[in-house]
Amino acid sequence: MAELPGPVLVERMRSFGTTIFAEMSALATTTNSVNLGQGFPDTDGPPEVLDAAAAAIRSGHNQYPPGPGIPPLRQAISAHQLRRYGLEYDADTDVLVTAGATEAIAAALLALVEPGDEVVLFEPYYDSYAACVALAGGQRRTVTIERSGDGWTFDPAALERAVGPRTRVLVLNTPHNPTGLVFDQEQLRAVADVALRHDLTVISDEVYEHLIFDGRTHVPIATLPQMKERTITIGSAGKTFSVTGWKVGWACAPAHLLSAVRTVKQFLTYVNGAPFQPAVAEVLGAAERLAPAAALQAQRDLLCAGLAGLGYDVIRPQATYFATVDVGTDAMTFCRGLPHRLGVVAIPSSVFYDSAAGDHYVRFAFCKRPEVLTEALDRLAQGKTRQSTHI
Ligand code: PMP
Ligand code: GLN
Repeated sequence: MAELPGPVLVERMRSFGTTIFAEMSALATTTNSVNLGQGFPDTDGPPEVLDAAAAAIRSGHNQYPPGPGIPPLRQAISAHQLRRYGLEYDADTDVLVTAGATEAIAAALLALVEPGDEVVLFEPYYDSYAACVALAGGQRRTVTIERSGDGWTFDPAALERAVGPRTRVLVLNTPHNPTGLVFDQEQLRAVADVALRHDLTVISDEVYEHLIFDGRTHVPIATLPQMKERTITIGSAGKTFSVTGWKVGWACAPAHLLSAVRTVKQFLTYVNGAPFQPAVAEVLGAAERLAPAAALQAQRDLLCAGLAGLGYDVIRPQATYFATVDVGTDAMTFCRGLPHRLGVVAIPSSVFYDSAAGDHYVRFAFCKRPEVLTEALDRLAQGKTRQSTHI
């Protein structure tokens, strides 16, 4: 057999391989495990959201939509940012519809990062940030979000140290996956302060803006003084309406930034989601009513109380789909073994860190029906029983 040519994949992507989400979802299938790994709900979105898309298919929204997104959706996004946050974006020049938030992140990084530029990420980071920085030929510098009592925080001095002469961009994610941290005013001020002093552009991933608990409020960094001019704010319908497969996202920014993102986006997917765009346009005004925040909060409480009851060291999130557990041992080994031992899949948060700070952290998704969470807890309880009978 002829020898395969040398590595086919470009050098800068070789460290990425298969995403942890794909690996763990496949493991869940082969081991017949309860999948608390990849973050997707196991119930459909609200009927009125689904009906809006079905009606759009029937009424002929099936060909390429306009490159920047259909006007009614851009108007709905603009209205959403104004109504909730007092942020004014012109629907024609400052709003871009993308193939999920993922494409908005990719287009923004590819548009702003020159080869050799540095990009500051908070770790743990969503995996696509690192991959897109690498695709752009950039280098990432990380600042650790550290555990602090019952929650998470970061050291502003460490953020300052992460910025160098070649730093152009800072990626922020609030509410944050996987920690569930909702950056508060003080934390946002620290980020804004660094961005302003070092003339950085901020890419702010806010896909979990509606999935927030305990009466907390989400504050977009673009609302802080002088920040709107240098911030690209990214959102997504997938999380808000429990339709993660629809892949309708968006970016909002002043025209000079948005046009750069739009230029790149044209050559990634060009357009997507023809029938989903009018559907999201129709329901975005009712986001607060339709987002599953209350149900998710109850699911968070069920999972966190259950894990704590089993003796796990669990850190309750303020938002998102995810709770973190300190398993006190190597997270990757723990997660690769758990499906075989107990039939439960979780994600080793360690893969979202460059440093060793996350080596013992495991992420459990609670965006699943209560009976599924209970089943997972029952399976984990067996492990605890087995452990104690062995002792
Ligand atoms: N950012 C974060 C922090 C996420 O967790 C996700 C997906 N769960 C995305 C972006 C991607 O969003 P979308 O599915 O809209 O591409
Ligand atoms: N964002 C989802 C998560 O964090 C997964 C999306 C994906 O598979 N890329 O679980």
